[in-house]
Amino acid sequence: MEKILFLSHTEENGLLSSHALEALTAACQIAEGLNSELTIGLFGGSTKKAVDQVTGKTLVVEGEPFTSSRYATDAAVGEAIYKAAGATVVVVPGTARNMRFLSGLASRCNGKVDTHITGFTVDGGLILHRWFYRQRMRAEVTRSDRPWFIAVDSGVFEPFVGTGGNAEPVSVSIDDALLRTTVNGVKAPETGEQTIRPDAETLFVAGAGWTKKQADGQPHTDEAAELILDFMKKSGASLGSSKSLVDLKGEGQSVLPFMTHLNQVGQTGSTPRHQKGLATCCHGEEPHVVGWRFVNERRVINLDPNCGWAQGKADVLYVADAFAVMSEVNKMISD
Ligand SMILES: Cc1cc2nc3c(=O)[nH]c(=O)nc-3n(C[C@H](O)[C@H](O)[C@H](O)COP(=O)(O)OP(=O)(O)OC[C@H]3O[C@@H](n4cnc5c(N)ncnc54)[C@H](O)[C@@H]3O)c2cc1C
Repeated sequence: MEKILFLSHTEENGLLSSHALEALTAACQIAEGLNSELTIGLFGGSTKKAVDQVTGKTLVVEGEPFTSSRYATDAAVGEAIYKAAGATVVVVPGTARNMRFLSGLASRCNGKVDTHITGFTVDGGLILHRWFYRQRMRAEVTRSDRPWFIAVDSGVFEPFVGTGGNAEPVSVSIDDALLRTTVNGVKAPETGEQTIRPDAETLFVAGAGWTKKQADGQPHTDEAAELILDFMKKSGASLGSSKSLVDLKGEGQSVLPFMTHLNQVGQTGSTPRHQKGLATCCHGEEPHVVGWRFVNERRVINLDPNCGWAQGKADVLYVADAFAVMSEVNKMISD
């Protein structure tokens, strides 16, 4: 009989992230499918609010040493909670923080780890699903080794809605050696604005057309930047880009200052999961559109009625000037 443990850190505000709640749904479904017991394990600076978000037996470790991501303390806490739960399968959200220590934790528990899990089936045992080679091949993974540590990707499961857990503290001995690393700050690419929002309903993609010469023979990059940022702020959408647009920076051309390679969607970029997508000034070539694999409702604004999107890749193509359309859209969503 399997024993399932859901393990996650809390966020700075003491809550579980949406990604963590999605992974908790996966853990519940796995436990149900295998007819197994589920234990929840939470750690962080504080866990009280997070305990209210879950249901059932909840092992907790909280305190100042667990506020930020640190391999030594996170792995020690993970090991203590894993042992207290006596788990055979440990489900975690694949957050940056968990991914830093999960393989080390699996190793010290003499277990195996699988990451980027996007689904599972139960057929005489647990079968995990994940994608390889830029989402082109889906693998089914089974293992007889236990414990089995599983990191679940975001945007796949519905966030869990709990009725409140029963907290049981777990003790962990933390000595000075584990506290040797301190977090002084976070260095991230300077995007100026928080534009990548995996939880957003809509993906807004900007293509290189925004920086090209327009009908008056001049580029209008500043106006493009204003229109796009205005839309991002008002809509809460996530910002994606074509490769051509982010590559322009390296060519020394006029660019949108908030756009980086992290925004790039496509074969050599990301494959985000959003319910809807709107591509603007983007031609819709195959290496870009493969990144839209998980975006089901697709709309496009392009001046060219024969652009790549028109070849069966979009649900709706507006043959129009994106500057004019987005300016109207921004007015409409301000009202
Ligand atoms: C190995 C390889 C990997 C690649 N990987 C990726 C990848 O991961 N992601 C990716 O995006 N690309 C990738 N590419 C590049 C891809 O093939 C295209 O070159 C790129 O997506 C084109 O970007 P774009 O559509 O923004 O630019 P363009 O092809 O220049 O298209 C600009 C579009 O803007 C339109 N436009 C201009 N002004 C307006 C206006 N005012 N209103 C409306 N429309 C307007 C034009 O009609 C045009 O269709 C890859 C290519 C290769 C060879």
